[in-house]
Amino acid sequence: MKHRIVIVGGGTAGITTAASLQKHAAARNLDIAIIEPSDKHYNQPG
Ligand SMILES: Cc1cc2nc3c(=O)[nH]c(=O)nc-3n(C[C@H](O)[C@H](O)[C@H](O)COP(=O)(O)OP(=O)(O)OC[C@H]3O[C@@H](n4cnc5c(N)ncnc54)[C@H](O)[C@@H]3O)c2cc1C
Repeated sequence: MKHRIVIVGGGTAGITTAASLQKHAAARNLDIAIIEPSDKHYNQPG
């Protein structure tokens, strides 16, 4: 499987980066994948 952009890690940084890129995905025809072993993300506010 091929993607133009692959983000390793779906934590805070990975999700934030993907969301930011996704805003422009349609216009720029981006194809983004996140590689993340967990199917859940736990926000950990102090
Ligand atoms: C208890 C607690 C409270 C916190 N409170 C605050 C707060 O109040 N305010 C604040 O700003 N920050 C807080 N933080 C810190 C904040 O959670 C981290 O700074 C932030 O999550 C770091 O983001 P990250 O994307 O670098 O890492 P993470 O969010 O940890 O994401 C890393 C991801 O990479 C994945 N991963 C690891 N290895 C691999 C691999 N080999 N292949 C693919 N995926 C992989 C993991 O499964 C994980 O989902 C807190 C942290 C903890 C533990």
